[in-house]
Amino acid sequence: MITVSRRLEFDAGHRLMRHESKCAFLHGHRYALEIEASGNLDALGRVIDFSVLKGRLGDWIDTNWDHNCILHHEDTALIALLSQQTKKPFILRSNPTAENMALYILNDICPTLFPDITIESITLYETPNCFTKVCRTP
Ligand SMILES: [Zn+2]
Repeated sequence: MITVSRRLEFDAGHRLMRHESKCAFLHGHRYALEIEASGNLDALGRVIDFSVLKGRLGDWIDTNWDHNCILHHEDTALIALLSQQTKKPFILRSNPTAENMALYILNDICPTLFPDITIESITLYETPNCFTKVCRTP
């Protein structure tokens, strides 16, 4: 199997509901996301052009997550406060951990953005030392 990956970076805030420590407080990260695709080589010898990975997912991230707050739907106080801004916070059904954010990209966003490509995994770095990798279920 041949895979290709594209790294995308963005800035976002979040906080974790019911976290035992400092992640319960609103804070931000310079996230780095790696999207990994697989497939057969095309006539030019590519799985997919890197610019397609960047274009489709990068646009979605720029619109929805970059310079935004990503919040649990139960975080009603912060949602109410931030909803007064022009850019509304991004609401997840789950706590915005790196794991849940990567699962959301893989399972909820990639099927729509990449109906023609197999996305093998999403790796999401919350910091240079802390990251998660979620893989598609075969
Ligand atoms: Zn955090």
